[in-house]
Amino acid sequence: MSAFSQLNIKTDLQKNLKELGFKALTPVQQASLPLILEGKDVIAQAKTGSGKTVAFGLGVLQHLDVRRFRIQSLILCPTRELADQVAQELRRLARLIHNIKVLTLCGGMPFGPQIGSLEHGAHIVVGTPGRIEEHLRKGTLTIDNVNMLVLDEADRMLDMGFQDTLDRILDRLPAERQTLLFSATYPEQIQNIAKRVMKQPEMIQIESEHD
Ligand code: ADP
Ligand code: ADP
Ligand code: MG
Repeated sequence: MSAFSQLNIKTDLQKNLKELGFKALTPVQQASLPLILEGKDVIAQAKTGSGKTVAFGLGVLQHLDVRRFRIQSLILCPTRELADQVAQELRRLARLIHNIKVLTLCGGMPFGPQIGSLEHGAHIVVGTPGRIEEHLRKGTLTIDNVNMLVLDEADRMLDMGFQDTLDRILDRLPAERQTLLFSATYPEQIQNIAKRVMKQPEMIQIESEHD
């Protein structure tokens, strides 16, 4: 599978990709998207800029039921900047899906507006681990309906010391879910996390030219 037009995805997504001018899949998308769309747990290692956000973004949007106004996907990123970028890319991909709500919850931002937004509801939450955990503790965020978890830039999240926070968030997620893990590197710590939180994950490694 090498073209977006060959992907078995919702008409709204397909039409939008065409309008955005997306044609050929990048190598990490070619390798991961068929598996992601099948509902498999996937670990994908590829360098920055290789198109990982579009890979998991299409998976998240394909699996989402927009008529069910519940948080169905949780995407964890190491920094606010990355969370904002991911949310922006998701909104771009979801442009033709009416009334879809993507919410970012990041550290360093005031709580008040985040709590207000949570009261209004969302389909997808993109955030940083510390703030997500705080909302869980306060009871302002419910993740009981999440059936898709994405750990983006997992290696950086661990480098930043988020291991324990991630574990506490993972403890609260339904076991019945799809988990996707994206990382530029694949150190032992990530392999351990993958073993614990993923179900028979498919492993994809795209070599960079410099490896
Ligand atoms: P990564 O997460 O691997 O660092 P991104 O998903 O952020 O990479 O992608 C980098 C850029 O490439 C983004 O601007 C994205 O819109 C663009 N992009 C991703 N996949 C494709 C594609 N198949 N064709 C054209 N542009 C793409
Ligand atoms: P914390 O546990 O510190 O709230 P989060 O995991 O929620 O951390 O957020 C991590 C991201 O938010 C990083 O990008 C970090 O730089 C940013 N961040 C966290 N707290 C602050 C703050 N007080 N001021 C500015 N940025 C912050
Ligand atoms: Mg990325």
